[in-house]
Amino acid sequence: MAKANYISFLGQILNDPQLKMNQNSEIFQGRLVMKVVRRFVDENRRIEFSDPIIVTGNPKVAKMMTNFKKWDFCSMKGVLTTMNVTRSWFCPECEYRNQPVGMYTLITPIFMEKTMDMSHAFSTSDERDQLLETEGIKILKSHNEVSNIVHVIGTVCKMTELYDNGTSATLNFQIAVNRSYRLIEGDPDVKTDYPWVRLYGDKAREAARVLSVNSTVFIDGSIYTKMVKKKTYCEKCGYEHVINELVSEIHPYSVEYLHNCNLPADEYTEDYTNFPG
Ligand SMILES: [Zn+2]
Repeated sequence: MAKANYISFLGQILNDPQLKMNQNSEIFQGRLVMKVVRRFVDENRRIEFSDPIIVTGNPKVAKMMTNFKKWDFCSMKGVLTTMNVTRSWFCPECEYRNQPVGMYTLITPIFMEKTMDMSHAFSTSDERDQLLETEGIKILKSHNEVSNIVHVIGTVCKMTELYDNGTSATLNFQIAVNRSYRLIEGDPDVKTDYPWVRLYGDKAREAARVLSVNSTVFIDGSIYTKMVKKKTYCEKCGYEHVINELVSEIHPYSVEYLHNCNLPADEYTEDYTNFPG
């Protein structure tokens, strides 16, 4: 099967990058938050800002972050990866140690570069942070075509029911994306990632008719990251506990139906019988 997993960001850095060094003072890990934007996401044609976290365990990529400062603009090429993570918590009722495993979707950078140095902007103002944030939003809006891009080919492995109240509709599905690259920071045995996709409006209604488990799609979209409160219960006594979880999902511009899709025959059968001449 064809493989694709490509992210391209142009965004504003929201913190000084957190860099970790080993005993020899060599940087081996880097982490930063970046604000990106995409053009209209739903039938109301609203633009959508998102603050994804970019983490790398690759020393070469972490070094690229060393000259970045809060409010600078940078471009990034990366891939979407998923990882199972255990998040233990002690139950305050019965002191049992719960160890739920959850899946995280990560943005793994391959290349990063500063594209706009903001260190001298508004440097004498008392309201520097506020001005740089406002300026950043303005710059991002004018770059919404290139700020937040993801291209993936995946096979549907899970689908939710279509939610449709007549005016708005949403559909969520999970895709299996085969890795076409090897990550230094990853487990070499992991060959597949499982990101979630969310569709709105007529696109959601159409996909609910056309897609099923095992359908293969190409998605041209963007990444959306949000903080969600997830309820979990103590395995031993049932005590309710809330975990804050950072969730990243794909919000498509378009979905191309490649294989095993329930399309009317005339949509994909090309007719070669009527060539002129
Ligand atoms: Zn308990």
